[in-house]
Amino acid sequence: MPRTLVTGGAGFLGSHLCDYLLEKGHEVICMDNLLTGSLDNIEHTKSDRFKFINHNVTEYIDLDGPVDYILHFASPASPIDYLEHPIPTLKVGSLGTHNALGLAKKKKSVFLIASTSEVYGDPLVHPQEEDYWGNVNPVGPRGVYDEAKRFAEAITMAYHRYHGIDAKIVRIFNTYGPRMRINDGRAIPNFLKQALTGEDLTAYGDGSQTRSFCYVSDLIEGIYRLLMSDLNEPCNIGNPIEMTIQQMAEKILQASGSKSKIIYTPLPEDDPKVRQPNIGKARKHLDWEPQVKLDEGLKTTMDYFKEQLNV
Ligand code: UDP
Repeated sequence: MPRTLVTGGAGFLGSHLCDYLLEKGHEVICMDNLLTGSLDNIEHTKSDRFKFINHNVTEYIDLDGPVDYILHFASPASPIDYLEHPIPTLKVGSLGTHNALGLAKKKKSVFLIASTSEVYGDPLVHPQEEDYWGNVNPVGPRGVYDEAKRFAEAITMAYHRYHGIDAKIVRIFNTYGPRMRINDGRAIPNFLKQALTGEDLTAYGDGSQTRSFCYVSDLIEGIYRLLMSDLNEPCNIGNPIEMTIQQMAEKILQASGSKSKIIYTPLPEDDPKVRQPNIGKARKHLDWEPQVKLDEGLKTTMDYFKEQLNV
């Protein structure tokens, strides 16, 4: 039975990963310091192959026994979270990744780091493919996340080249689904909460900026395929169907039957104007592409939000 460590395992993506790995027969160690993760996300996990450890991976990670796979997912990931926790965000991407790689070296584990489409910054190439180096403002408010993840990629490749670690890098594009926090601050949770409680939907700027949203189960499947592959270079995983934020707000109004209005509030600094993954590499090497339609994914997510909000 493979023994697998998931850092950030009580977060939105980490907890879905833990579920998937348990389904695949892994023994799972879920490590999280609960800064933005929550025990609510893992309380359903009753398996005797599952263990939770409350630990901040910025500090040395001590684990007994073999570890076959390490998936390093610990990090604040919503813009409002990394603006509120800029230094922990920088530390977990740098010191935390260093510790997780040190453990992978000691245990001879396969290592996978959760990177992000934010490494492309406000992109000058569209759609984004893996060999685009990006357009990041290192000293802007988002720099704490973007540069931490860029450093994480660099140190991961150094451990791969210098220490021969079998390392994978997934560049995750916008993802949504159950277990996103109501007050997560990202577009879909905000719009769902606002639509379901009769508040106005806050489109930032004029709502013309674009994103491409992937349902969580599709993303997790892609990550698992990458983990099992022999690809030791960055790979985009995301849904290439692109839309404006205005269109997403309208879609959520329609899907919820809400009478709320859309209002326009200032665009945050350095907010990328466009984003769409080129998923040619994932298609070719992982035989992967998204399956879940937006309407279907939004419905499941909305049902989760209704339950959380008691509406
Ligand atoms: N956004 C918005 N209203 C909100 C939250 C977000 O218009 O209430 C916009 C945000 O400015 C960005 C896009 O939606 O252009 C996606 O933002 P999110 O925070 O979900 O993730 P990002 O892709 O920026 O990391």
